[in-house]
Amino acid sequence: MAYQSTNPYNGKVLQTFAQISDAALEDKLRQASDCFDNDWRDKSFADRAAVLRRAASILRERPQEFAELITLEMGKLIQQSLGEVALSAAILDYYADNAERFLAPEKLATPRGEAMVESSPIGVLFGVEPWNYPYYQIARFAAPNLMAGNVVMVKHASSVPQCAEAWERLMHEAGAPPGAYTNLFLSKEQVAQVIDDARIRAVALTGSEAAGAVVAARAGQNLKKTTLELGGSDAFIVLEDADLDKAVKHAVSGRMGNAGQACTASKRFIVVDALADRFLDKFQAALENFKPGDPMDRQTTLAPLSSSEALKNLLGQVEGAVAGGARLLTGGGRIDGEEGAFMQPTILTDIDKGNPAYRQEFFGPVALFFRVPDEDAAVALANDSPFGLGGSVFTQDIERGKRLARRIDTGMVFINSGAASSPELPFGGVKNSGYGRELSGAGIQEFVNKKLIRVS
Ligand code: NAP
Repeated sequence: MAYQSTNPYNGKVLQTFAQISDAALEDKLRQASDCFDNDWRDKSFADRAAVLRRAASILRERPQEFAELITLEMGKLIQQSLGEVALSAAILDYYADNAERFLAPEKLATPRGEAMVESSPIGVLFGVEPWNYPYYQIARFAAPNLMAGNVVMVKHASSVPQCAEAWERLMHEAGAPPGAYTNLFLSKEQVAQVIDDARIRAVALTGSEAAGAVVAARAGQNLKKTTLELGGSDAFIVLEDADLDKAVKHAVSGRMGNAGQACTASKRFIVVDALADRFLDKFQAALENFKPGDPMDRQTTLAPLSSSEALKNLLGQVEGAVAGGARLLTGGGRIDGEEGAFMQPTILTDIDKGNPAYRQEFFGPVALFFRVPDEDAAVALANDSPFGLGGSVFTQDIERGKRLARRIDTGMVFINSGAASSPELPFGGVKNSGYGRELSGAGIQEFVNKKLIRVS
């Protein structure tokens, strides 16, 4: 795995980075472990919070500098990159403000003596992270765990090394001591080596099912806890009493945000008969209106995919879907005349159960459309998926929306919007979408020792 920054807008290689040597890796592990034992775990919440708040301030003072690196390395539209920088700062502040409360000792009612549960840090944590939100993903992992008193080491995706280094510099500039936050350019073999290392106490991965299975298996062999945030194929259900324009607006942003490369992107559009034709007409017209161009230019509405490899894979999936009997309503190809990895916004219909597309995640601007007779059929189709990450329900009857949400087997359901992430909302899935939660009060509880202290 070569750590290389390539601009997906024009295919230009910007910079390459050497993988870490085994000797340097050993130094980093020692440094992280020393930092935990002799410094970070004993710091007060206030001292740790000061570092996170400074990091948030730096992101807010220099958003353009951080945002441009995202756009350069993975092609995100610049205004969305700026949004990611702001969200990352909000996550840092959220945990700086709330960690002490979340981890406050809990007194237990016991018939004899005195008992309490304290939350203590467990040590050095290892995170394996994806390229699609190069800072936000790191913030979700690093902010709660640093506030809990753990130290973190991160293997970022090999396509975003400049963002990986920028975040490490940010933490140091904010005053994190050496070893509190460490970026590692690791080979896959070294990922296994790090997981095996006794100084690493737990592992978090965000990425594909394949990577999750490999990393969690390795951690399991070492009896180490993991959290996995994996893929999704979120259902976007539109009931007959939905506000159609609102549903279409969210369908477009839900499918097209981040050029469709989000785990919680709306991917399967399940619309009841009564609204299906009108929804589809409006949705198609909106998708055909996207304009490809330089993602640094604020006028551009369609960004390239993250790499030419990603485009090739997505085109292959569309081809497979059509070969399996699906109908291509719009798009389906790469955009001619553009150097970059641009995919046409695409809608596939008539996807039956035997079609490979029925169970796949489409990581790009490809919408799968399904027409259903009623609410029960919508729920059955939504749940007929290997994934269980998020989903949306559109109805003007909120109580009906909540009832339906309870029947959907995912970690998150949004009524009358696409998926949205915010520091105070738990994020995570069930089934092949993984386990554990990030963000909110739940996210800081994953890697702490819930220690009972009992006085007889
Ligand atoms: P990916 O290929 O699984 O990569 C994710 C990370 O895992 C990268 O750092 C990658 O390193 C590493 N990795 C991959 N295979 C590995 C292996 N065998 N051993 C050790 N490390 C390995 O995923 P991606 O293509 O970057 O991201 C897209 C996927 O992530 C989608 O399925 C998406 O839905 C999911 N995702 C989920 C969430 C969530 O919160 N649920 C959020 C974002 C993305 P290299 O880059 O060096 O290969």
